[in-house]
Parts: sequence; structure tokens; C-alpha cells
Amino acid sequence: MNHNTDTNPLEIVSRQIDAVNEILQLPADEIAILKKPHRTLEVNFPVVMDDGHIEVFTGFRVQHSLVRGPAKGGIRYSPDVTREEVQALATWMTFKCAVVNLPYGGAKGGVIVDVTKLSERELERLTRRFTSEIGIIIGPDSDIPAPDMNTNAKIMGWMMDTYSMNKGYSIPGVVTGKPIELDGSLGRAAATGRGVSIVLNEFMKLKKQDLSRMRVAVQGYGNVGRWAARLIAALGGKVVAVSDIKGGIHNPDGLDLNDVENWVNEHKFLAGYPKARSISNAELLATECDVLVPAATEAVINRENAHTVQARFIIEGANGPTTPDAEDILVKKGTTIIPDILANAGGVIVSYFEWVQNIMTFFWDEDDINAKLTQALQRAFRDVEAIHEQYPGITYRQAAYVLALSRETKARRMRGIYP
Ligand code: NAD
Repeated sequence: MNHNTDTNPLEIVSRQIDAVNEILQLPADEIAILKKPHRTLEVNFPVVMDDGHIEVFTGFRVQHSLVRGPAKGGIRYSPDVTREEVQALATWMTFKCAVVNLPYGGAKGGVIVDVTKLSERELERLTRRFTSEIGIIIGPDSDIPAPDMNTNAKIMGWMMDTYSMNKGYSIPGVVTGKPIELDGSLGRAAATGRGVSIVLNEFMKLKKQDLSRMRVAVQGYGNVGRWAARLIAALGGKVVAVSDIKGGIHNPDGLDLNDVENWVNEHKFLAGYPKARSISNAELLATECDVLVPAATEAVINRENAHTVQARFIIEGANGPTTPDAEDILVKKGTTIIPDILANAGGVIVSYFEWVQNIMTFFWDEDDINAKLTQALQRAFRDVEAIHEQYPGITYRQAAYVLALSRETKARRMRGIYP
């Protein structure tokens, strides 16, 4: 995407912080610290491709804050990755961990690569080399990666193995979102989508709205979108449209999600699904529905298309899907946005549970994990709602940011500025 002032990720973060500071009134030096990521590691590294030629890839690992604990955040593989994007995503991780009160700061990583052009062996070599490159700053006590766009449990397994081989012994706690067989956690794969459904349910209960009467559209049919669609449907919501990077499908009477899932498992993409009308991603965002779940990538709802959104409620499965200009337009229309740092925090919460289980080498069952996840999100929702009520007229994003920024700056003040 070519970024303008509305869609540049660091600009978005900066504007979100400024909007909250109208309420919080933090001193300028504290705002300056929050806007700058603590560390940015850029690595350029060669990988031998299957035909023997060498390609040089660029990757990043950014630690935005280490104030409240080790840094935590996913690794993204995409041709669109940029230093600024990773820095913005790391900043959001700091705020997300603070909103749900996990003892973590924020981090994020990314490699500029189109995974569809790599063989399985090339993907593994790239992952192992990248892990070694960022191995100088990641670790179970310092910075713990996890899956994000185009990375998954298998890739986390390679990362855990590479880091462990370099150290000489097994260190499962260096990454989360691992396969269960490698000390991953039950419930982690579904956790982000489950979290979206839990937060949406809490919100609907509060507003005395009946989720079973809601039509839902989901953009992004990957880890987050698939689970969110399935679990919102399990709560009674009618999922009328879903999409992936190639486009979407729509059925006003509701999609048969098991059937859609079988299609995607077989064909990889939604395109060609025979039992619903094909739509574009622009049409998905403009679908006639009550709840829109952007669960793909940043800045998809921006000042160019915000006026087309018909949903009354947006719950952000993706990080940063709504730009500040879009938010202004939507708020004026009466749309309520449940922000990413609360709505999609289920993933990092169960990642935290995985890390704790790895440190204890004692594992919990899935019901226990889902119950703890529900509790953590209900508590965070109540905390955000209390601030929302305290300051009439603010948005849920501002309320979540007030909570996050207060927790982060309080901890920083107590630590003091070294030396
Ligand atoms: P994924 O790679 O599993 O799935 C991404 C989906 O979005 C795919 O269906 C892809 O085709 C689609 N997509 C990508 N770009 C698109 C575009 N421009 N328009 C429409 N569809 C597009 O990734 P994921 O892990 O599900 O992550 C999705 C979003 O959720 C990202 O913003 C990520 O940062 C965020 N997130 C993920 C987790 C997690 O645990 N995986 C946790 C919190 C937030």
C-alpha cells in the first residue's frame, strides 16, 4: 500500500496517542518516549534457494517497550512489511499487553517476503536464518515472538528448534503459538478469534443487544478471521460474508461455515466457492450487516471508503484496520468501534499462558485455559467500560488507550529514567 497521512502506520499511532492525551494530559516528554520504539533491529541475510542461487532478505525485530516485562509480539511474513509498520505494530503490542494487564512490553517482527513464492524448504531455511539473526535480542526472559500474518505453529516450531540448537538445550519458552507436541498450549490456535467473540459478547450484553439477531461480515479468512467467524456463529451471530486477499463471498441468509471451511482447506482460497455470491473486498466492507470484523491487515477502513461501511459495530480482529480519518467519519455516523488492543488481545493472553506453562513445565487443560481467557477479557472489558463511562463522549479506543497509557507511564515513572 502507498501510505498517505491517513494510512502511514506510525502516523496512525502518533495520532491515536495525541487524541488520548487530550484526556490524559501526560507531560510532553512522556509522550515522546511512548511514540519512539525502544529498539529496532534490521537484518539483511542471505538464503540459499532450492535452485542454488542466493537471495538476500530484509527483516526486523522491534521492541517498543520493556518497562512492564519482557517484550512480546508476533512475526509477520509479507511483501508489504516495512520498518515503520513493524514499529507501529510493536507499539500497539505494548498498549495491548497493558490493557489486559499482562506483565509484558510490546514487540513485533517481520520479514519482507512473499511466502507464496517459497518452497517449504526455502521457508524453513529463511525462518531458521532469521531466527539466528534476531537471536541476539529474543529469548524467554527478554522478547518472545509468536505467529502473525503468514506465520503459524510449524514456523514457531522451527524458530524454537533453531534458538534451542544455538543455545545447546531445549528452550520452548522462547516463542509461543508452537505445536502442542513442542510444548505449545491447548487453545492457542483459536485464542485470538475466541477473544474477538468473547469481547463482542460482553459488549452486546452491556448494550442489551441480541447477538443472535446480528448479521456479521468478516474480512480476512486466516487464523483470526476463521476462528472469529466460527465462534461468533456459535454464539448465534449470522455470518453473511467472509473474504480473503483474493476477494469474498456473500449470502444474506447466512453462510454454511463448515462447508466454506472444507472448501478453503481444499482450494486454499474462497474464490470459486459455489454456494454464495462472489464479492470484492471493497464490497465486503460495505456489506449490509450489523457487525463488521476486519481481521486481515492495517488501514483497510480509511478515509476513502469509511462512508461505505454500513455496520453499526466494528470489532477489530486485525491490528490497526481503521485509520484515524476513517474513525472520525464512522463516529459521526454513530458506528461503535471496539478497538484492536482490546478486541484481539485473546491471542497474546493465551500466548502468556503458554509461556507460563513452559516456565513451570506444567500444562493446563483446554477448558481451564478458555475459562482463564474469558475471565481476563471480561476483566479488561470492565476496566475499559469504567473509563468509557467516566469520560462521557469518548470512544472505546480512547478509553482503552487511557487505560494502557496510564499503566505504562505509571510503571515507567516508578522505574525512573536510567541512569
Ligand atoms: P493469516 O495470515 O492467518 O490470515 C490473514 C488473512 O487475511 C488471509 O485470509 C489473507 O488472505 C487475508 N488478507 C491479507 N491481506 C488482505 C487484504 N489486503 N484484504 C483482504 N484480505 C487480506 O493472519 P492472522 O494471524 O489471521 O492475522 C490477521 C490480522 O490479525 C493481522 O492484522 C494480525 O496482526 C492480527 N492479529 C493476529 C493474531 C494472531 O494470534 N494470529 C493476534 C492478534 C492480532
